[in-house]
Amino acid sequence: MFLNNIYKKEIIFENNCWKKCGNGFCCDNQYKNFDFGLINTSGSIILYTPREYEFAINFKKTHENIFYSKPKFIKKKVNDIEISVIMVKCNLLGKCNNIIDKPILCRLYPFIPVFDFTSTLINMVPASIYDVVFKIKEFDSVCKINDFKKYFKYYQDNDLKFDTYTKFYFYVVYLYYKIIKKNLISLTKNLKVDNKSFWKKFEFLLLTGKLFEDNNLDKEIYDCYLNFQIFDKSFSLDKESNLIKNLCKKNVL
Ligand code: SF4
Ligand code: SF4
Repeated sequence: MFLNNIYKKEIIFENNCWKKCGNGFCCDNQYKNFDFGLINTSGSIILYTPREYEFAINFKKTHENIFYSKPKFIKKKVNDIEISVIMVKCNLLGKCNNIIDKPILCRLYPFIPVFDFTSTLINMVPASIYDVVFKIKEFDSVCKINDFKKYFKYYQDNDLKFDTYTKFYFYVVYLYYKIIKKNLISLTKNLKVDNKSFWKKFEFLLLTGKLFEDNNLDKEIYDCYLNFQIFDKSFSLDKESNLIKNLCKKNVL
């Protein structure tokens, strides 16, 4: 089973890389020019797919005991399908070894591989919203792991056997990435990333949803879903809403 395998795997291990970025930016989102009113940057937000989250809370070390706030979920309905993402605040600041089993997002950091419907690797997108912003605004991220070619080759050479469900979610992230790029470029034209006023504006765009506005997104997501189904007849999101309901009933959401 994909989740079981990936939870036992180190992807590319970058030894002691936290020394390069100062203090583990990926786990403690601190950057001198962040100037947020509402976003709390101490710690990090992890995103889970519903199936990964259900798996994680049943895995060796339960996750719900170590997070200070209750996980939240956001859901999006597109035609007859429902897509949800579970957001969990991690306050472990990089010290998660032997406490929890690292989520997929942390294992993959700093890049999410994007596969098309035929399972061909077509791109990689930054795994954190802040790295997305740094890349779009063409500014060096605080994270010093930026060897795009090395990681791309790694995913070409190593078949991690991502299941269709996870590949579909990664592809949706890619669709969002492209929309964020278009909106961020047009809405922050005269603002530089190394400036507090940029991040104030970013926070506004993020929290009001303006960063994600696009008339074609729903169609693109649904087309993507149908295409993945053509290549894998067993893939479906039919049970997704029940999965969320069950997690809520168990009081883990
Ligand atoms: S992955 Fe990047 S942000 Fe995270 S500790 Fe290493 S250099 Fe720092
Ligand atoms: S689970 Fe570990 S790697 Fe992931 S954000 Fe938390 S401390 Fe960092």
